Amino acid sequence: MPQQCLFCPNVINSAEHLFSKWIIKDLKMAPAVKVTIGRAPSTWVANPDIKIPSVCKPCNNVWMGNLETANQSVLRAMINDDPMWLSKKDQAKLCRWALMKAMIIDSVNPQRPLFYCSAERTEVKSATIPIGTLVWLGRLSRKAFHAGGTDVWGEINKIPKAFHGNVTSFVMGHLVIQVLSGHCSGDSCSKWPVRWL
Ligand SMILES: [Zn+2]
Repeated sequence: MPQQCLFCPNVINSAEHLFSKWIIKDLKMAPAVKVTIGRAPSTWVANPDIKIPSVCKPCNNVWMGNLETANQSVLRAMINDDPMWLSKKDQAKLCRWALMKAMIIDSVNPQRPLFYCSAERTEVKSATIPIGTLVWLGRLSRKAFHAGGTDVWGEINKIPKAFHGNVTSFVMGHLVIQVLSGHCSGDSCSKWPVRWL
């Protein structure tokens, strides 16, 4: 786990909820959660209120908190399968929220280098969606809980592993969100973000 906040130079002194408390309370679900990090054996956690210590208090309490609040009404509607209209502005806000959560999940495994680089994390903090990121929404007919991230690689022009992607999937009640971000040619994501066609 990095000692520096994911989104600013401050030291880590706060933890972000994987599933926000209001989501767990709203859904009236308290399932045991299977936690798998890297290649370590899975464990079951009785309380779904999982916190990930990778940010500082000012980030968590200010811009991350504001982003959560700004998305609460649309998230609540979709989580509960209530009909609603998602404006372009709502889509942009939700995309930023999902990406922020994906970056939190990206930081869970201390054995693995972070996928998202500091430039991408800074962009999300400053209300921009980095190039090379796509976000999908889906609807699940039954209620469920899931959050997980995985790395994927692909070939470009017969160069193996020239593409490195990170996929983060969330299921919250009836709402499914998937975030895909891609980098090309090595670790320097700021140089070669994927431009999806
Ligand atoms: Zn911070």
